[in-house]
Amino acid sequence: MTSVTASRGIPRKFVGMNSTVKNDRIEWLQGPASDSSAKCSTVPVEHKNPWRLVLLGAPGVGKGTQAELLTQRLDACHLSTGDVFRAAGKRPDCDQSPAMKAALEYMRRGELVPDSTVWEMVRERSHCLVGCGGFILDGFPRTLGQAESLKELMEQESLSLSAVINYELPLDEIVQRLSGRRTCEKCKAVFNVKDRPPKVEGVCDHCGARLFQREDDRPEAITVRLEAYERSTAPLIEFYKNLGLLVSVVAKGSPDEILVRTTDQLEKLAVNT
Ligand code: ADP
Repeated sequence: MTSVTASRGIPRKFVGMNSTVKNDRIEWLQGPASDSSAKCSTVPVEHKNPWRLVLLGAPGVGKGTQAELLTQRLDACHLSTGDVFRAAGKRPDCDQSPAMKAALEYMRRGELVPDSTVWEMVRERSHCLVGCGGFILDGFPRTLGQAESLKELMEQESLSLSAVINYELPLDEIVQRLSGRRTCEKCKAVFNVKDRPPKVEGVCDHCGARLFQREDDRPEAITVRLEAYERSTAPLIEFYKNLGLLVSVVAKGSPDEILVRTTDQLEKLAVNT
């Protein structure tokens, strides 16, 4: 039925691993179009059986936070397409291609960026996917077209996904999380004015930089994003279920509680294969 086979197995570093070395993901965030001398601050550790994960779930379920935590536990690269767009948005106007400028407009409105632009961006960074340390894809794929492109690339490279984790959360909690979310402009730490407020309003607990509200976390953009999720991304749950890769995790509670639920599921996978 499928040519994508699950390659699983817990790397030795899985249990108890809590790396403090943070990769700045320069090669993923900047891509080859920028200064070609830009290199990631840490070289991925080679794993015999690296984790290659896709994180699914509506905007606001906490995929980005889990991706960060999983990155430390599994020693894999955190590859977020939203972060690539946000990094591009901070560059001077003259450094942005017309396709990227258009992509940023879609993003500001809360709409999905067209598949062709997203795929071009991922394809030119494909060495981050084929690297020996594995990856955690966050925010990609988001449409069936993108999922098919990823499947093709993986097959060409004779690689397989380990699992696709689907984070589940009721709609009202999602809206509350999105509208209260504040992000640190420097270290990207995420807070919530209601559930997880910073010690000093508007200031990051970790590095002291300013917290900001993402443009697409404004109420009008939230509605558009949730509609886009239902229409385009929710069908991926069925797609990956049919490939035997889907793992569901309830995204309620603190980030650490959700992380424990996630790693429990991954451990089960590794034991059963
Ligand atoms: P969230 O999951 O919280 O909505 P992301 O950081 O993943 O946030 O994405 C922010 C925005 O970037 C999306 O609303 C969309 O406009 C754009 N984007 C990111 N990844 C994709 C993708 N794979 N396909 C289309 N648009 C994307």
